Amino acid sequence: MGLFKAKKEEEVRTIGVLTSGGDAPGMNAAVRAAVRTAVHAGMKVKGIRRGYSGLLEEDFIDMTTRSVSDIIQKGGTILYTARCPEMLRPEGPEKAAYICRKNGIDALVVIGGDGSYRGALEISKHGVNVVAIPGTIDLDVASSDYTIGFDTALNTAMEAIDRVRDTSASHERCSIIEVMGRKAGHIALWCGIANGAEEILIPERYDYEEQNIIDRIAERKKLGKKLHIIINAEGVGDSNGMAKRIEAATGLETRATIIGYIQRGGSPTCRDRVFASAMGARAVDILIAGAENRAICFRKGEFTDIDLAEAIAMKKDIDTELWDISRKLCR
Ligand code: ADP
Repeated sequence: MGLFKAKKEEEVRTIGVLTSGGDAPGMNAAVRAAVRTAVHAGMKVKGIRRGYSGLLEEDFIDMTTRSVSDIIQKGGTILYTARCPEMLRPEGPEKAAYICRKNGIDALVVIGGDGSYRGALEISKHGVNVVAIPGTIDLDVASSDYTIGFDTALNTAMEAIDRVRDTSASHERCSIIEVMGRKAGHIALWCGIANGAEEILIPERYDYEEQNIIDRIAERKKLGKKLHIIINAEGVGDSNGMAKRIEAATGLETRATIIGYIQRGGSPTCRDRVFASAMGARAVDILIAGAENRAICFRKGEFTDIDLAEAIAMKKDIDTELWDISRKLCR
């Protein structure tokens, strides 16, 4: 770990922990790890409920080792989460920083997605130290190859798709299954490969030439294929419309299934529990070591941390190697 010694007067004595934006399974493991690492180091921890909304309303709870008992296996977030429009106005982050200072919070640990990172950066500009942890099922935090909740969401979606596949196979249907991911196609790509889909539509690569899909379905039908699974990313959307058009054009009974929020809940997988724990602990460890305004990441197989502003400026594409592989397997 690259550590730099903090000056005595800058020592972090009290941290605030919050979860923000969309909830993700494993957030609780990160909260638990941050709280226990901090308490073990003699720090005080204030849990902030409902993300930045709770921060602006001073909705705090003092947290101890016991406050985070029996939560590692639970989905969602015990701290609740929210979207907070007030943070988008210039006075929001300024007020948040003022409230931190007023309550003796020396540093904030923010667990959330891209938007939450931006909020954290804005608060840091008003002099409050922040560390951000990537928590989102969508994997769309550019600075990290892993985000908390992605693995659980993938496995939930994969199982749901298997079930739809069984019924589609029995009825010899075409199925369009829409998975979450906001503007990113990571969940769709992974599930497309894991579920052996015939088509994977992701916003990063889809050309919106629906006729090409229709032609390929007709071709496969001619070759005797009875089952057609199309995994469609939320960022492409319009699954119901697509189903109607494909049915009309191919004569194949076509159904759309939008998996929706089922993908956000549930007990986190082992990977999400362990990685979230590592990230939560690291966030506090680097604060103890004197780090300022950092983003925790998992990059090239290692846990690390980088400057928060740099993290936000980064862009992420789909995994091109996986995409290329999927092109060979979707036939
Ligand atoms: P996620 O963190 O999952 O990407 P959002 O994009 O909804 O979720 O962001 C969560 C919250 O972060 C927002 O409700 C808002 O309070 C704050 N936020 C998002 N973008 C900004 C920004 N540019 N400046 C300040 N705060 C922001």
